Amino acid sequence: MVLEWSRLRLLGDICFLAAAASDAARGPSYYPSLRLFLLRPLDLDFLFGGQTNCAVWDRFAFMTRCFSGKFLAGILRKSRAFGAGRAGSTGLTRCPNKNLKNRLRKIDLNNIRVARSETARDINRRTVLNLVRRLQPISRAALARRSGMQRSTVSAITEQLIAQRWVLEGAGDQLPRGRKPTFLHLNSDRASIIGIDIQPVVTTLAVASMDSRFLVQERISTGANPVEFIARLGRRAAELMRSYPNNSFEGIGVSLPGRVDSSSQRLIFAPNLGWRDLDVKTPLEKATGLPVQLENAANACALAEQWSGRNCDGVSNLVVVAVSYGIGVGMILNGQLLRGSTGAAGEFSHVSILGDGPVCRCGNSGCWEMLASNAAAERYYAESAPAHNGEAGSKSAGARVAFGDLLHLAEQGDERAAKALDRMAHYLGVGIAMLVNGLAPDVLLVIGDVTRAWFRVGPIVAQTVKARSVAHAATHIIATDPDAQPRLQGTIALVLQKHFDAPV
Ligand SMILES: [Zn+2]
Repeated sequence: MVLEWSRLRLLGDICFLAAAASDAARGPSYYPSLRLFLLRPLDLDFLFGGQTNCAVWDRFAFMTRCFSGKFLAGILRKSRAFGAGRAGSTGLTRCPNKNLKNRLRKIDLNNIRVARSETARDINRRTVLNLVRRLQPISRAALARRSGMQRSTVSAITEQLIAQRWVLEGAGDQLPRGRKPTFLHLNSDRASIIGIDIQPVVTTLAVASMDSRFLVQERISTGANPVEFIARLGRRAAELMRSYPNNSFEGIGVSLPGRVDSSSQRLIFAPNLGWRDLDVKTPLEKATGLPVQLENAANACALAEQWSGRNCDGVSNLVVVAVSYGIGVGMILNGQLLRGSTGAAGEFSHVSILGDGPVCRCGNSGCWEMLASNAAAERYYAESAPAHNGEAGSKSAGARVAFGDLLHLAEQGDERAAKALDRMAHYLGVGIAMLVNGLAPDVLLVIGDVTRAWFRVGPIVAQTVKARSVAHAATHIIATDPDAQPRLQGTIALVLQKHFDAPV
């Protein structure tokens, strides 16, 4: 039995097998529905060009076995879903490519999508677009080499991307001899994006270009009444759009310190804003006419890191700990953002790490964010105030100092401020140790103003994590530069990812 494959390409993360389904023994009509299938190590789905059945399924297993010595070999065996009465186990067999080995996962039979010829075209198009973004300026010849596609395919796709204004053609490079290739780069002026970072006291609005460069930013106070505030936000966003009459706008990305239902895009709960079950998306869309993407701030930061690769180039397991007046945790594991069933995954901030600690607004005692957030450091500082009338260290002893001022005081040698920070750092380390032990990420990224004092906080965190690590996980703990505005960068990544991510 001979199988003829029209194309076999390994494109970085995407192993793409396009089968002509021509079988010398039985002819191509034997499996007329089998046109193409696609294996993605990150999101392993078999995609069928039509109806499938048990015979096709067996055939698939055979075909993948044919190539298992050389290429990706994810085999889904007879499945209950496809073979009535032929119950069997589903499982993936060996994958000799070491880079891909640990990234396979089970096929989600609840979410099989049908591949049409447009799917293949769309994947190729996005592959080229991502290569241009990542490697720009880049020639068509280099694109063909990097992607493994035919030159003619690359040319057709780049013509389309140029026509759609995603890509621009630059001047030819000065090579010593031979033909001068024309270089391609991403058209960063194609469209603008509005980013909105909602935080408890101040909300930042920004207009950014496609390359995540901010053209303008403004800060407004976050209102107490969520409905009124969102209406005001919509008006401000519309005014920002009007101030750039020559720009077209792609969409709005919103990050907020709360959990968002991933299907309805409603805000479920934002304890530090005091908001609950709120539709942020519809009023903003009505006010601006733009599509709105909403995401938890820590998730948005994780996506931005994955997108820009500033600290995490090529990292598949990333945990972001966003420290502000609460603590948000965003997780990208095996290259995928982890949202949980309702989008509420990542609420480590309300894990109780000190049984008799202060009571949290969630009802528990000693929650991580009660001990390691900016608010915790402010409280430590206030509680350590010198005694008045013999009442030492009571909660009412000291005036509340804002976290930014506390950082300044510590820098200037104020012992109480330094101790408050050290205590916060210790508990930050306790919670981070929990994440490192539990999730073993490659990188754990700390975001927030606390990183301004990382020379002081970082060693305490590292020491605490080391003391509490059960298996010395090789996690790199990195503090981000707050001036890079990771939360706001995240809002831009939210809008961009829908154009650059894989389509399935
Ligand atoms: Zn709590």
